[in-house]
Amino acid sequence: MNKSQLLQQDRDHLLHPFTDFHDLGKQGTRVITNADGAYITDIDGQRMLDGMSGLWCCNLGYSRNEIADAIYEQLRTLPFYNSFFQCTTIPSIELADALSEVTPEGMNNVFFTGSGSEANDTNLRIIRRYWDLKGQPEKRIVISRQNAYHGSTIGGASLGGMSGMHKQFQSLDYITHIQQPYWFGEGGDMSPEEFGVHAARCLDEKIQELGPDNVAAFIAEPIQGAGGVIIPPETYWPEVKKVLAQYDILLVMDEVIFGFGRTGEWFGSDYYGLKPDLMTFAKAVTNGYFPLGGTMVSDRVAEVIKSKGGEFTHGYTYSAHPAACMAGLATLNILRNEKIIDNVRDTTGPYLAKRWAELADHPIVGETRSLGMVGALELVKDKSSRARFDDDCTAGGVCRDMSIKHGLVMRATGDTMIIAPPLIITTEQVDELVEKAHRALDDTAKALA
Ligand SMILES: *Cc1c(COP(=O)(O)O)cnc(C)c1O
Repeated sequence: MNKSQLLQQDRDHLLHPFTDFHDLGKQGTRVITNADGAYITDIDGQRMLDGMSGLWCCNLGYSRNEIADAIYEQLRTLPFYNSFFQCTTIPSIELADALSEVTPEGMNNVFFTGSGSEANDTNLRIIRRYWDLKGQPEKRIVISRQNAYHGSTIGGASLGGMSGMHKQFQSLDYITHIQQPYWFGEGGDMSPEEFGVHAARCLDEKIQELGPDNVAAFIAEPIQGAGGVIIPPETYWPEVKKVLAQYDILLVMDEVIFGFGRTGEWFGSDYYGLKPDLMTFAKAVTNGYFPLGGTMVSDRVAEVIKSKGGEFTHGYTYSAHPAACMAGLATLNILRNEKIIDNVRDTTGPYLAKRWAELADHPIVGETRSLGMVGALELVKDKSSRARFDDDCTAGGVCRDMSIKHGLVMRATGDTMIIAPPLIITTEQVDELVEKAHRALDDTAKALA
């Protein structure tokens, strides 16, 4: 089939996620046909450095046949069996055990799902079950943050704090949102340190306003990913920890992006020294080779939901799919055996930090930030006032297109450009990334002048 036929069929039949169907119909899509290492190739043969690891999932890049083989072998042995009705499969047991080992201390149980959204829905179900079994059914409200991303099911989207999403569905009424720790966008005249404390105090104020006896949980990403790689000021998490210590409220960390090495530690919770009660994972757990998600359940919560009788009436057909679990096991083996995460922490992460920071000198860059294997930069017309080019933040889209033209996949969140390259990226490839990003910025400045 030729390219124009494919594009026409795409227009005619495929509804893409998070897409303006009308605009896409006019512009058409980019067909990605193959990939290797840290690169993807499109139908025209253009090879691009994938600065986004697919959709934050292919942390080991695209050439790990061990994972493909593990899936294939499993599909030949036992392609499917469920874990309902007192059944189980060997891969699901082995992956549950392996996850207990790599996740923070005190997290020794897992509930598997097919995605991150389903895992956050599972969290809502577990949170409610926990407080009911504890005899505190009035604890119902879950606090989240504005501009958070927690998935796109009704539960996930309600937990998320993206205004564009909230306009298009009816949110669950027991979820509420507080300010995000986004200093560049919302810090005003405060220093980053002051603003970090301020944003954390918003949690305390909200808990007091609602009454601690009514609050069930606080959910957050360690660093907001889709919201624009918002790395909170250093004062934020220590202050949140202090706030949470005063109240009997569950902490849910959504580690869908930052789990499995992105910060240079196994989990964002490890990086920030947090002790979550529930921890959502998905994406990189299988290196994107097979859909799988889940939630890690701490001993504190597991003791309650496991020791009291009565069925937990929740589960998905594909919870603990054996091929998905084999993909997870193969991924964990590579991460452990090849010391990939240590390399991010000690070598490639610091190198990315150094090179990425050089982009801050560019005339249209207001701030750069990075940590481990993520980075963001803010496009501005005026550096000192942090003023954007326009109210609709269209500069980001221009910069993304320029970046792709130069052979680098960067993502635009409004006028924030973000990267999350595969953890296997080499220092030479970091150089390539920064050089291509620089050229994209030059072209963007010219286009917007
Ligand atoms: C992607 C993402 C989700 C949703 O995961 P899906 O597998 O797309 O359902 C949830 N939380 C965070 C932080 C994510 O980045």
